[in-house]
Amino acid sequence: MNPLLLTALLVALISTACLAGASAARKAGRESRMTAGKAGSMDRDEIYRMLSRVEKMEEPELVMGAMCYEPVAMPAVAEYLCPVCGEKTVYDTSDDAFYTITGLFETRALFAVLDSVSTLDMALDESSLCSACRSDSTTEPALVLRVTWDDGRTHSSPVTAEDLRMLTGFMSGRLDYVSVNDGTFPLRQNLDRIREILGMDPEGGAPCSDGGCGASCPGGGCR
Ligand SMILES: [Zn+2]
Repeated sequence: MNPLLLTALLVALISTACLAGASAARKAGRESRMTAGKAGSMDRDEIYRMLSRVEKMEEPELVMGAMCYEPVAMPAVAEYLCPVCGEKTVYDTSDDAFYTITGLFETRALFAVLDSVSTLDMALDESSLCSACRSDSTTEPALVLRVTWDDGRTHSSPVTAEDLRMLTGFMSGRLDYVSVNDGTFPLRQNLDRIREILGMDPEGGAPCSDGGCGASCPGGGCR
């Protein structure tokens, strides 16, 4: 097999110059934190308020992170060991899920951080990555973020590590988020993606289709 196929660019900070840049990026991120801070109980109305806050406030400057990379040899296959049933599912480099599995350790850690800064009921659903637990053979293996709202309704969306970084910034009350290489990116440009992941109505109304929320929907009622 062509060894080039086994090689991918992964993030690796390899010089003190990079580390200095990363530190500056972190400092800039702290300075653009909103004073309102973390929300208390995050129901839909609170999320709508947070979305509109990010939309209205001045966008912080984008800070590029360290650009020092080093090629890291990738394995030929990635094995997913299911924590629920113990089954092993093997993916090779031609599978999209290969990169999900090789980055799973980091993604789980990112989710733990997200969960710790938010009072929203969220779960990272790995079940489609396991061939035995996957309910439907046509389901694409992916990491899925499941949100359970205070009224019991749920919304599920496939997510990447970058999505979780974005959500962590948003749920922390920031106007930006820390990227994979310690840069900071404004959240405003990603509000559509955040709405999509959380199942929020892009027009600002409540994310319900059956009118079950009555007249309490902000910004124009149910759709
Ligand atoms: Zn399983």
